[in-house]
Amino acid sequence: MVSRVIPVETFDLVIFGGTGDLARRKILPALFRRFQAGQMPEESRIIGAARSEMGTKEFRAFVGEAIGEFIPAEEAPAKAVENFLRHISYVAVDARGTDGWSDLSAQVRQDVIQAFYFSVAPALFGDLAERLHEHGIAGPESRIVVEKPFGRDLESAHALNATLAAHFDEHQIYRIDHYLGKETVQNLMAVRFGNILFEPLWNAQYVDHVQITVAETVGVEGRGAYYDLSGAMRDMVQNHMMQLLCLIAMEPPSQFEPDAVRDEKLKVIRALDPVAPAEIVRGQYKAGNGRPSYVEGVENPDSRTESFIAMRVDIANWRWKGTPFYLRTGKRLKSRMSEIVVTFREPPHSIFGEEAGKSANVLVIRLQPDEGITLRVTIKEPGPGGMRLVDVPLDMTFAEALGPDADDIPDAYERLIMDVIRGNQTLFMRGDEVEAAWAWTDPIIAAWSDKGDRPLPYETGSTGPEDALMLLHRDGRRWREIEV
Ligand code: NAP
Repeated sequence: MVSRVIPVETFDLVIFGGTGDLARRKILPALFRRFQAGQMPEESRIIGAARSEMGTKEFRAFVGEAIGEFIPAEEAPAKAVENFLRHISYVAVDARGTDGWSDLSAQVRQDVIQAFYFSVAPALFGDLAERLHEHGIAGPESRIVVEKPFGRDLESAHALNATLAAHFDEHQIYRIDHYLGKETVQNLMAVRFGNILFEPLWNAQYVDHVQITVAETVGVEGRGAYYDLSGAMRDMVQNHMMQLLCLIAMEPPSQFEPDAVRDEKLKVIRALDPVAPAEIVRGQYKAGNGRPSYVEGVENPDSRTESFIAMRVDIANWRWKGTPFYLRTGKRLKSRMSEIVVTFREPPHSIFGEEAGKSANVLVIRLQPDEGITLRVTIKEPGPGGMRLVDVPLDMTFAEALGPDADDIPDAYERLIMDVIRGNQTLFMRGDEVEAAWAWTDPIIAAWSDKGDRPLPYETGSTGPEDALMLLHRDGRRWREIEV
């Protein structure tokens, strides 16, 4: 199988916050990889912009170092890095001031695709949007890319949407959620809608329940101050996990086209039942393995922010009534692993009798590590001893199915940035989707905040608080192991 690189048109990409952490770790390495894949047109330019006084030469050195740090040496030969750096320049610009804007205006061409990556604090989005227009840099087809967090509640998200809408049409705004750029997430749609096999069974009649787990081994590390204002619910559930839930639960869109897909996702969010406090378990990790506790990491001994959350979510529509979705995410857990598990119901009657064992098909969609999809099916245990049933995996791990080309699969940021250049919004969140997600999230957070509830302590390296296990046990179910 030969991987295809679809050409894009010549572009000017301005990265506001080009000297920041996200640019260094994700955006710039992703652009280098696309360059290496041959996807960056010869005349395209990448312009770093931030307040720091430096010239293009120093910024190129900064980009070279970022590539050296985040891309293995064998994939970044010196000549290729040198060629890539020729596309890079830098302009010192203050989002809140007047400095640098006329320089930037002189650099950004009007006759190519223009994209502006707002890799800065959300408080600066409005200033950037305003000045891009004031200085005649952005036009009606320019694109802007904005990062999470998109607000911290419905009110702030609404205000942010209004700020952007004052200068840009919705078709120009790309709200990035890098989970949507993952290969497996898109494959989930291919599996659901490209095969006849699954869709007839994809409902409450045949699906017993769905689990979505995003487990991390890291703690808050250096991000304590930011994280403590957010917590797992705002940082993970409202955005990434909500998006995964939507892709599992949505109706088939009429086309794989941005608004058709986003309309269906929005309907799911609007159909989510409110979640009662009894359906939620929040946790906070303790010190362990020589690492500090959550509260030590955020420097607030009384913090009530959760670093773990597990919850049962029900969808009030015909397709899903009676099939719970269990979400679980946390830091300092046993392993780093993200997956979606769709557990089908048992056959209505076992012709093999009780002693043969039970069987249920399970579809596991693994986002990390080892992206891939596995379907567990029931067969006879080989050998003598009568009819005994056993579950075996039908494996669709990309590395095996696609051979060496699996290594060429672009990572989420590569794909999403190229989608921006192509003008394809399918994998980006629309403003109303984000607001609907906050409208569902706000009362849940308010319920525990108003009562001053404390999260339950849990051990570093565990699967979270014991109560999270009970959440499923009491429904006669269990979580899949957090293991790689
Ligand atoms: P960061 O490391 O603090 O970088 C901020 C960038 O903004 C720097 O380049 C800074 O450069 C520039 N900047 C600050 N004030 C400015 C101004 N007035 N005018 C122009 N430029 C200004 O932040 P980050 O971690 O890269 O995060 C950037 C955005 O991505 C944030 O919205 C964050 O929430 C989001 N995000 C980050 C991550 C991540 O892993 N880092 C993940 C998801 C989302 P100067 O100081 O030189 O101006």
